[in-house]
Amino acid sequence: MTGGERPTNLISLVNQRLLAGFGKPERRPLRSPLDELILAILSQNTTDVNSLAAFRRLKNRFPQWHALLSATYKEVLDTIKTAGLGPTKTRRILDLLPQVRQIDPDLTMDFVCSMSLEKGYEFLTSFNGVGAKTAACVLLFACGKPAFPVDTHVFRVARRIGLDHASRTREQSGVATPLPWPKDHAPRTREQSGMATPLPWAKDHASRTRQQMQRFLEQAVPEDDRYNLHMNLIRLGREVCLARAPRCGRCFLQDVCEHHLHQGS
Ligand code: SF4
Repeated sequence: MTGGERPTNLISLVNQRLLAGFGKPERRPLRSPLDELILAILSQNTTDVNSLAAFRRLKNRFPQWHALLSATYKEVLDTIKTAGLGPTKTRRILDLLPQVRQIDPDLTMDFVCSMSLEKGYEFLTSFNGVGAKTAACVLLFACGKPAFPVDTHVFRVARRIGLDHASRTREQSGVATPLPWPKDHAPRTREQSGMATPLPWAKDHASRTRQQMQRFLEQAVPEDDRYNLHMNLIRLGREVCLARAPRCGRCFLQDVCEHHLHQGS
């Protein structure tokens, strides 16, 4: 494929390339929604290795979450502090548990899995410190719901590839002549684009936040592909499309990646 045209099925093509390159991602161990929520809180702003180690320590020290209800702030902080942001995460976990117990004395939060995706989001994000990404992790990993968590890796890689305007052809954008790929992600004026009318995708792309990207991908990615694409985009972001210096020479997506096509032009 040349750099002049973008496939209209870019999301599907990227998914297939990543499956071919990385294989089908392993399923994460199935945990209860509350376990997954606590793990997701611990994973905020740190690596999976750190958060998983902190989660295991917490589980070892408090095998039943009921025991955590009577734990002191210091006991919890000492147990999880290696995951970073110890005071904040300790407070969030200790605030969360009594609220969950009021609804679910078993402290599993299994009922979340019988909610619709939308209601699940609404419920989970009502807790202090639980945003859309954290809620999506619970819904996807514990409940198998078609959520698409957008973490820092997914967000960076999806924007570089240009996944968020992948499905738009020039015709759909109302543009008759080929467009140069955006040179950066900064907002463009119509004058800068040399166009008389706004380009819907360029406007969306420039202003999209992580949460907007998550909403977009949950609409654009077929349900059955969400787990695999999510996991493989994270892997791509960790191993190839690094934040500071993407290793495009080792990437399966060079010929369709907006960032790389622009760099090479
Ligand atoms: S081609 Fe380069 S910028 Fe694009 S996804 Fe691959 S590593 Fe990232």
